[in-house]
Amino acid sequence: MTNINILSPHVADMIAAGEVVERPASVIKELVENSIDAGADSITIEIKNGGSSMIRITDNGSGMSPEDAGIAFMRHATSKLHDEYGLDSISTMGFRGEALAAISAVSRIDMVTREQGAEQGTRVVLEAGDIQSMEECGCPYGTTITVRDLFYNTPARRKFLKTERSETTASTQTAVRCALSRPDISIHYIKDGSEEFFTPGDGDSLSGMYAIFGRDFANKMLSCSGSNDKVSVRGYVSSPAACRGNRAYQYFFCNNRYIRSPLLQAAVEQAYENSMLVGHYPACCLYIDISYGAVDVNVHPTKTEVKFMEEKKVFDAVYHAALAAIQKENLLSVSTTAPSAAVQPSETVSASSFRPSSGAVSADAFRPRYEDSPARSYRNTSAAREEEAPVPFAFSGSQTAEQTSMDGFSPAAPQPAAPETQNKRSSSDVPPFRMVGEVMNTYILVQQDEKLIIIDKHACHERIIFDRLLTEDRSVMSQILMVPVIVKTDEETATLLEENSALLAELGFELEPYGDNSHIIRGVPADMYESDVTAAFEEICQQLKDHRTVDLEARKTNILKTVACKAAIKAGWKTDVRELFVLAEAVVSQQIKYCPHGRPVAVVYTREDLDKEFKRIV
Ligand code: ADP
Ligand code: MG
Repeated sequence: MTNINILSPHVADMIAAGEVVERPASVIKELVENSIDAGADSITIEIKNGGSSMIRITDNGSGMSPEDAGIAFMRHATSKLHDEYGLDSISTMGFRGEALAAISAVSRIDMVTREQGAEQGTRVVLEAGDIQSMEECGCPYGTTITVRDLFYNTPARRKFLKTERSETTASTQTAVRCALSRPDISIHYIKDGSEEFFTPGDGDSLSGMYAIFGRDFANKMLSCSGSNDKVSVRGYVSSPAACRGNRAYQYFFCNNRYIRSPLLQAAVEQAYENSMLVGHYPACCLYIDISYGAVDVNVHPTKTEVKFMEEKKVFDAVYHAALAAIQKENLLSVSTTAPSAAVQPSETVSASSFRPSSGAVSADAFRPRYEDSPARSYRNTSAAREEEAPVPFAFSGSQTAEQTSMDGFSPAAPQPAAPETQNKRSSSDVPPFRMVGEVMNTYILVQQDEKLIIIDKHACHERIIFDRLLTEDRSVMSQILMVPVIVKTDEETATLLEENSALLAELGFELEPYGDNSHIIRGVPADMYESDVTAAFEEICQQLKDHRTVDLEARKTNILKTVACKAAIKAGWKTDVRELFVLAEAVVSQQIKYCPHGRPVAVVYTREDLDKEFKRIV
């Protein structure tokens, strides 16, 4: 009997699709990157219904010859890398030849493309990766790719999509990042038929911000630049007076690629110390240029994390550039209000002249604070998070979601739900196991070797979310509530909420005082179910009261426990088999043992235990 199958290229593409294409936003990112690589200076992004029914990217780039158009959707088809020697000097956004294959495997595609100078264009239509038709057609130079019905042939993945609203938000975020990443390219973004923004592509990121965020926003940005022998920084940071209640407007680009970076975040925020209200965060759009060798982009197309070889140099460059921009503004306002001071704007003014109370800032003075800040966890967590990040725990409304029965999951066919999840980890991490089923919509039964494992799905999921939140090296993502919630508390709690507003903001809660000891909650952590907001909030208020004396980290941990609990699937809910599978994997691989409150996530019965129970042995 054979147990090992070589996957067909088609199945392999569908699995790869899970890595490259998580949601509509990732499709947008990949396609826009292709347009950028094709040298386009004008790109239009259109989406409908959050991108799940349609995404269309139109560019005026190089276009493709009919031959290339035919093979572009094959796995490992790339024009950007020829052999392993090219790997060190990649300057294009893509090079693995995976994106088109992966996207086409899980959607319906219509592409028209015409090579610059060619007489005719080519139209290719694909369904689930198979070419349906290919013909000559008339079209402008460049390429238009329309992706329809994403995940239509992988229903389980489609179910992992969040609400249309959150997919739209994520798609818009991606469009914004693409647009800001390349101010020299004009980007037009159209959402459900209406124009959201249109950047001019004049090379100045301030024009881009003006087009995207509006005049008021752009007017409050300060130009910022600086460099040392390793790094150069340019872009804009917000005037201290225009800082905001969250980090939503912090954009960093490394070599024109959008990145997340707690290091850069800390560097910018440090520059605002003493000039910004507590609980506020600067907005910024900063471009870091660094030699390709000095940064490890981890050569994975979906990663936005980078590792700088010389972190201190990068930190210093950003810190000093931001600080100089703030000081320059102070200086300008000083000189307008007190002309007699006769100071000339200059980049070289020392910090001490503006911050008499804190004295000059030396590199050493801020470094230790940065080391001590929570951001330090970014150092060791990336490996762990790579494993965790893709775990698709978007169990939106599982209790009402269409029921997935366990029937298709008989012992003879345990694989259907497995490929995607197994693909995430190296197979050695997860010992082989068999899903037996779920009982009472609460407990998952798993057999591994000669053991029966019973898993509490809520406790298990809670732990996974908690671990992810805890190791997350950035603020927790927030979701804006459709209907803001107003909570009235006693005076003591209201004061505590205000005192902890920075912490709450970092954890994804957006709230403002609303007078008379009330607060209005506008946003909550992205994972949390909206129906749980009030309950979660009450719990958190109680925790703040109970733990007011403990240190910040402990308060944070307690709040995260509540968030994890309210974001986890609940006992009694219907849960998709795939989701159960991911939970079972986490337990079997011994990644998790206890829920954040210390309860076990699973109980184990050995054959011996059962034999004893049935008096087969004594
Ligand atoms: P990669 O970008 O890693 O090479 P993709 O699967 O994203 O892989 O694209 C495969 C190939 O298709 C690219 O190498 C490029 O030659 C071609 N291609 C894709 N999109 C475009 C486009 N918008 N314009 C021109 N060529 C394109
Ligand atoms: Mg690509």
